[in-house]
Amino acid sequence: MQTIKTELVVVGAGPGGYAAAFYAADLGKKVILIERDKRLGGVCLNRGCIPSKALLHATHTITAARQSEPRGIVFGAPTIDLAKLRAWKESILTRLADGIAQLAKMRGVQIIVGRGHFEDSTTLRVETEQGQQFIKYDNAIIAVGSKSAMPKAFDLGNPRVMTSREALEVEDIPENLLVVGGGYIGMELGTVYATLGSKVVLVEALDAILAGADADLVRPVLAYAKKAFKEVRLKTKVGKMATSGKQIKVEMEGDGQTKTELYDRVLVAVGRAPNSGNLGLENTQVTLDDKGFIRVNEQQQTADPQIYAVGDIAGGVLLAHKATREGRIAVEVIAGEQSTSAGITIPAVVFTDPEVAWCGLTEAEAQAKGLQVRVDKFPWAASGRALSVDRPDGLTKLIIEPVNLRGRPGGRDGRDGQRPRFGRASASDVVGNPDGSCRSILWLRHTYHGQKEGGVMRPWSSSVVG
Ligand SMILES: Cc1cc2nc3c(=O)[nH]c(=O)nc-3n(C[C@H](O)[C@H](O)[C@H](O)COP(=O)(O)OP(=O)(O)OC[C@H]3O[C@@H](n4cnc5c(N)ncnc54)[C@H](O)[C@@H]3O)c2cc1C
Repeated sequence: MQTIKTELVVVGAGPGGYAAAFYAADLGKKVILIERDKRLGGVCLNRGCIPSKALLHATHTITAARQSEPRGIVFGAPTIDLAKLRAWKESILTRLADGIAQLAKMRGVQIIVGRGHFEDSTTLRVETEQGQQFIKYDNAIIAVGSKSAMPKAFDLGNPRVMTSREALEVEDIPENLLVVGGGYIGMELGTVYATLGSKVVLVEALDAILAGADADLVRPVLAYAKKAFKEVRLKTKVGKMATSGKQIKVEMEGDGQTKTELYDRVLVAVGRAPNSGNLGLENTQVTLDDKGFIRVNEQQQTADPQIYAVGDIAGGVLLAHKATREGRIAVEVIAGEQSTSAGITIPAVVFTDPEVAWCGLTEAEAQAKGLQVRVDKFPWAASGRALSVDRPDGLTKLIIEPVNLRGRPGGRDGRDGQRPRFGRASASDVVGNPDGSCRSILWLRHTYHGQKEGGVMRPWSSSVVG
């Protein structure tokens, strides 16, 4: 095959890569997008955000039906057709992936299906089904993402030990499911399986679930999980696993005791590992940190002047909207614009029950930084709307720097569609704020799956917008 020349090559078609490719094409660049999977969209679309949210939505209907009993509305036990559930989920993924392919076509972005490998700082080799394709580029953006971390001790080669990828296939509803890891992926998928009928035991090595979220916001989620799951064990470490007939024998240690238990399936959700191996990065000047993530500066530039990295592979917060934003920054910098990730606050949403959304510093982080902050809390038990939808357990919390009355974005708990609404920040609310907090507002409104905004604050005000 002949060598192709292009201005920009993007490796990886997840939310970081396709966003960068589309934006660059919109700016008039000749762009080639490389993706090893036949279906575009990356982890987020194919085996992350979208399938997990689809399953959470589907199972939420079961929870909602169960919870309506005290209101005098009683449904029978649900009949669950897993094949139909999977087909419905799959139809959403196909539709979205087709949409991305269509958007690429409309913009003249050339897609090559194959695995990218750097030959040097300006040449990419792509292994396709038809053979090797060489691409000479002016700039490259690496957006190859991450995969589930699987510690060696758990890697039995037994399909009953799952990562989120397999768990999202919902092959069956295991009677007993162990979830290792109380981060958002473990909590969300634990919620799905518990609602479908599994007895879920969740173990977390730390003393809290959802590390990184504000303790006040985590509390209602933990309270719910303690009821919905068979058990939540904090400060508990899984040591060994072994195949035992049709089950997995698991040894864990917590509270000074070692327990050995049998589970029908185990979901390992202990973090994500970067896809930086086998990329040929050693043939470039790109450098990695000690965990294998690509080192970038605030312009998404790697140590190689020609090459940028965005999204999960660039480390930091591993969320889809962060990847998309970084993709745009990289393209803007390549286009000669002043663009930076500095000062951008990345919001997070956990789609547990109740859902949690936050952005900016937590109270503990503010204290650790020695910031003088004021904390305002609005318990939803005092909200007529929250009571009318039977969710008084929610909370809105603001962390405020009284010095300049700037709201440090806080967070809230609640269920989508059941949240008290606090109005919205209009564009004029956010224009011209020099300290970056305006971005926080925009981002809070544009988290990847946030359907409804709420809890949005004016940066100059110490209270929620009414
Ligand atoms: C279960 C789960 C739920 C999640 N839920 C959410 C959520 O609700 N909200 C949220 O914001 N985030 C969520 N995330 C995180 C989100 O999926 C990631 O942050 C996001 O996908 C990262 O985007 P990316 O573009 O950096 O990489 P990815 O989406 O990982 O895409 C990278 C792409 O690069 C391709 N690739 C890798 N190596 C090569 C190569 N050598 N050549 C060619 N192609 C290659 C891969 O096939 C992949 O398609 C979730 C993740 C998981 C696992």
